Amino acid sequence: MPVYDYECRDCGAEVSDVFQKVTDPELTTCPLCNEEGLFRVVTGGLHSFMAGSNTIGSIADRNTRFNKNKINEMEAKKREANPTPEKPWYHKQGDKSMKDINKMTDKQKAKYIMEGD
Ligand SMILES: [Zn+2]
Repeated sequence: MPVYDYECRDCGAEVSDVFQKVTDPELTTCPLCNEEGLFRVVTGGLHSFMAGSNTIGSIADRNTRFNKNKINEMEAKKREANPTPEKPWYHKQGDKSMKDINKMTDKQKAKYIMEGD
């Protein structure tokens, strides 16, 4: 007989290790608050796999991941097609290194950023 875990969305109660037949209806009434907030938690393992309650969710998840990879790939190709090397801000106008800038006072830094000198 499969064992099910339930959770209550009203009071957050966790009801675990509920022995039920596959044919038994899901419990809905929370033993703690008596609201109809109980839902079956998929705990993994063979019985939840057989119940198939998560199949559509996992397929959708896989699709999202696949699309994300596809998009990343397309963007990488776009970047390869027209490379626009982004210079760091401190090289935009002047030619001082980060080390030089770190030695500056705040005033000098501001001037350097504004005027590149
Ligand atoms: Zn409850």
